[in-house]
Amino acid sequence: MLYIFDKDGTLVQDIDGKRPPNKLSEQKPIAGVLEKCQALIADGHLLAVASNQGGVAFGYITAAEAHEMVKQIADYIGATTYAVCVTHPNGKRKAARRESRFRKPDSGMIDYLMDAFGVLPSETVYIGDLGTDQQAAEAAGVKFIWAKDFFGWA
Ligand SMILES: [Mg+2]
Repeated sequence: MLYIFDKDGTLVQDIDGKRPPNKLSEQKPIAGVLEKCQALIADGHLLAVASNQGGVAFGYITAAEAHEMVKQIADYIGATTYAVCVTHPNGKRKAARRESRFRKPDSGMIDYLMDAFGVLPSETVYIGDLGTDQQAAEAAGVKFIWAKDFFGWA
């Protein structure tokens, strides 16, 4: 199976329970995530990360910083690759202010990753913490699991 994970609030902690990290030094993995992901890899599963990084469109972080943070947590969990979307329809930076089929709740990142691995929707699971994650999984035709259920958080 291909397990695709959302990043913020799924693999890494929100800052003060409110907002995603805006720099690498703020990014902290959620306890227990590594062990669960290592067990999946040991069982022969593939891992990837798919993350909206709309903060780039608002100018909170650069695209390079966003990619660096997604890559860091992808490497940490042993994911093979990752996908990022930095656009936002309300963004302040004109160049990134738009909708995108890659931006969740659309399915572009999940579609891309299934093509990147050559797997079917029936062989793919998406794990996330927001309604837009659930919608993206539904749009891609893959199974969705809430992060709290997948990782067994209280
Ligand atoms: Mg999230």
